[in-house]
Amino acid sequence: MKIVFASGNKHKIEEFGAILKKYCPNATVLSMKEVGILDDIVEDGETFEENAMIKARTVAKYGYIGVADDSGLSVDALGGAPGIYSARYAGEHGNDKKNNQKLLFDMKDETNRSCAFVSAIACAFPSDLPYEDFVVRGECRGTLLHEERGEGGFGYDPMFFVEKYGKTFGELLPDEKNEISHRAVATELFAKKFCRVLEIQELKN
Ligand code: IMP
Repeated sequence: MKIVFASGNKHKIEEFGAILKKYCPNATVLSMKEVGILDDIVEDGETFEENAMIKARTVAKYGYIGVADDSGLSVDALGGAPGIYSARYAGEHGNDKKNNQKLLFDMKDETNRSCAFVSAIACAFPSDLPYEDFVVRGECRGTLLHEERGEGGFGYDPMFFVEKYGKTFGELLPDEKNEISHRAVATELFAKKFCRVLEIQELKN
C-alpha cells in the first residue's frame, strides 16, 4: 500500500516510514515529489491539526493516501505561542537563532516556564476509499530554560529541558530524543490508528 507524505523533509519521511513499518509492514511511504505532486501548499489553518489536514488532503485529491504533520512549541504562559508560528516566530521563516532569542526575551520575566512540543499527524483518504480522514496529536512536555544548552537538535531544542533526562533536547543524543519526542509519540499513535482503521474496514467487507 502506497502512502504519500506531504513534506519536503526526507529525514522526516524516512523516520515516519520506519515507525509505520513496525505496525503495517506492507506500507510504502513516498514523498510528494516521487509521485509528481508539485503543489505549493498554503498552511492557513489555525491549529496544528488543521494545518496537517490541509496538507494531507492536498495529496488525497490526487488519489493517494495522504499523510502530513505539523509541529511546534507551545508555551503555557504565552497562551500556546509560538504554536503554529514556531518556524517564523521572529518573522523570518526557519531562522532558529532569531526565534530562540525572541522567545527568551518574551519569557524573561515569566516564572511559569511550562511548555510542550506538539506534533499533529493527519491522514486523508481519496474519495473512492471508504475510510474517514483522521488526525492524531503527540506531545512532549518540558520546561523552558533561561538560556540555551547543548549543540544538538534544531529549532527550540537547546532551551527545552526534559525532567526525565535532566537535559535539554539540545543535549540529548538523537536516539534519546527520538524515544520521547512529540513526533515519536504522534507517529506511534498514528501507526496504530492507521492499521486499526484499515483492518476494521477489511473485516466489515
Ligand atoms: P515543522 O512543522 O516540523 O516544520 O516544524 C515547525 C517548527 O517548529 C520548526 O521550524 C521548529 O521551530 C519547531 N519545531 C518542531 N519540532 C521541533 C523539534 O523537535 N525541536 C525543535 N524545534 C521544533
